[in-house]
Amino acid sequence: MAQAPLQPARGTHDLIGAEFRRHHLVIETARRIATLYGFEEWATPIFEDTRVFSRGLGDTSDVVSKEMYVFEDRGGESVTLRPENTAGVCRALVTNGLTQSNLPRKVFYAGPMFRYERPQKGRYRQFHQIGIEVLGAAEPLADAEVIACGWHIQQELGIDEGTVLEINTLGDAASRDAYRAALVDYFTAHKDALSDESRARLEKNPLRIVDSKDPKDKALVASAPTIHDHLTPEAAAFYAAVKRHLAAFDVPFRENPRIVRGLDYYSHTAFEFVTDRLGAQGTVMGGGRYNGLVEEMGGPPTPSVGWAAGVERLSLLVEAAALTPQAPRPVAVIPMGEVAEDAALQILQSLRDHGVVAEVAYKGNMKRRLERANKINAGAAVILGDAELAEGMAVVKNLDAGSQERVALPDLLRTLAETGVVESAAQAMLQTILEDEFGGGDLDGPLDADGDDEARG
Ligand code: ATP
Ligand code: MG
Repeated sequence: MAQAPLQPARGTHDLIGAEFRRHHLVIETARRIATLYGFEEWATPIFEDTRVFSRGLGDTSDVVSKEMYVFEDRGGESVTLRPENTAGVCRALVTNGLTQSNLPRKVFYAGPMFRYERPQKGRYRQFHQIGIEVLGAAEPLADAEVIACGWHIQQELGIDEGTVLEINTLGDAASRDAYRAALVDYFTAHKDALSDESRARLEKNPLRIVDSKDPKDKALVASAPTIHDHLTPEAAAFYAAVKRHLAAFDVPFRENPRIVRGLDYYSHTAFEFVTDRLGAQGTVMGGGRYNGLVEEMGGPPTPSVGWAAGVERLSLLVEAAALTPQAPRPVAVIPMGEVAEDAALQILQSLRDHGVVAEVAYKGNMKRRLERANKINAGAAVILGDAELAEGMAVVKNLDAGSQERVALPDLLRTLAETGVVESAAQAMLQTILEDEFGGGDLDGPLDADGDDEARG
């Protein structure tokens, strides 16, 4: 029997070329900005004991009830591919004995998550999240700072014009009890108009109905009571403080009383950054305050707040804003002749040592190697003939302009920088090297005219 050709597993995708560069940009930018806010990066395992995610019967969220990759391993243990990372971070806080010291802990993470969902644009079964958590801070300033950091990341990515911050409060336990009762009353009165799924969770978790994506439910939810009529004075004050701090951080927001978040452990602040640029997958970043989760992992009460964002969705926004990073443009080193070959390798390494992206073709004559240089989008070629090398010279060819010049090896870096067509990070580095360190291209190794080491300090 003929076998079907191999395909990526449904809902998974490969990150190659421009897609990988966007993905990398999103994660690197988030990592850099989170560092500015004092977050340290943690990496927790991709799979965990199923109990980390599935905590008793109380959890009626879609993620836990329908979307988890749960399986028994060969030893008969139930393990789950993480659908999100907040639970793993809280588990790690407890199992590493970090619940008492150095609070609050500010954690950043990035990595793959797994949910059994119907794949669509911006929705996968293996996707990636970046996220931050502040563990052990009960103050509304923590909520606002976490949001400000998320906004800062989007600004830095250049996608902030396409997203809007929507915030809400879920109040404290007393507020939520009162609200829950009001919701049960309201939805019971309109029971027949609810979707089957929502009717089933009416008693158990009416808040979930507010989050429903079913058009039938959405119509009802539009005129359902909001939590704002049921907030205790403390919860109202907390919410007011979050909004005040957000204004001080210069983060624009809009209030949306329908935001309740998909997971069950939230209280007080709930927020989402939404966009109309990604069709149905309109939420790019979501988060809020969760005060009971560390306790559920066996730790002490540890009020916490954080968010997670979908890297694929942020990447789509980067693409839509035409901000996909270019691949670096290398310098192609082209030896002509056998003597030149070894000298070329030394020059190649010296360029790389100075932060220049440089490549040498593995084989071929001058013509073939120039063709290869064009194929890899090289900005310039350094052509090394035996005769030139004997005189300590090379030919630098600007592959965009087609112009070329003979230069002395110590001037090679400067000349490459002047072409303006080699990779931009290297450009900046070259300028720095030339201006600050050497004051004019006096370099070590094969690029150094007199072999004098003193310039290196
Ligand atoms: P959605 O309403 O789109 O299902 P969610 O509420 O389930 O999102 P969260 O659990 O809050 O999402 O996860 C935070 C972010 O992770 C989302 O805002 C989204 O950007 C991203 N995300 C969630 N599920 C997926 C998925 N299956 N594929 C790609 N990104 C996802
Ligand atoms: Mg979801």
